[in-house]
Amino acid sequence: MKLQKKEIIKFAKMLNDKKLSALRSGNISIRYKNGFLITPSGQKYSSLKVKDIVFVNLEGEFNKKQKPSSEWRFHQDIYISKTNAKAIVHSHSTNATALSTHNKKIPSFHYMVALAGGSDIKCAKYATYGTRELSKNILKALKNRFACLIANHGQIAFGSSLADAFELAEEVDNLAKQYIKALLLGRPKLLSLKEMKKVLNKSKSYKKR
Ligand SMILES: [Zn+2]
Repeated sequence: MKLQKKEIIKFAKMLNDKKLSALRSGNISIRYKNGFLITPSGQKYSSLKVKDIVFVNLEGEFNKKQKPSSEWRFHQDIYISKTNAKAIVHSHSTNATALSTHNKKIPSFHYMVALAGGSDIKCAKYATYGTRELSKNILKALKNRFACLIANHGQIAFGSSLADAFELAEEVDNLAKQYIKALLLGRPKLLSLKEMKKVLNKSKSYKKR
């Protein structure tokens, strides 16, 4: 378990270093046994220690002496409903968050949007952080997807490893940045569903290699 905890700390610090989330915002988790390990509530990532990482089981139970991130519920719900989710990165990255305040999805303005698993990256409806209602909205936006924006909040990405989820989170923020720039020039031309399907098939066979 120590190894996984160390990995969480490494990537939590990277959230700061790569400017995906400042100070203590956002949270990171890894699936572990019958639950998951997650960053604690309200602690700066720069001061994180192995003992601070909290184990929460899939029933939502944890050692009461510890305090998991206040947003642990959507981690729990994603691990329950998506068996392919092995790690989750949630961040308040600047570009994805800016776009989320317009409740806008990222459409097929670029073929790299397919990295999130479909022809667009949806934006989950707003609900108060840490609530079951927000969890429900996120799961809806994550249908057949590996990432989504969260309205007036940020973004979330999951993957087969923490490295995988982190890379996708970086890509989502990058796409959000490019899309915002594209919108400054007017309405960008979107790729057709047919073209996006081609790209999706290509990336599937690429991943298999
Ligand atoms: Zn958040």
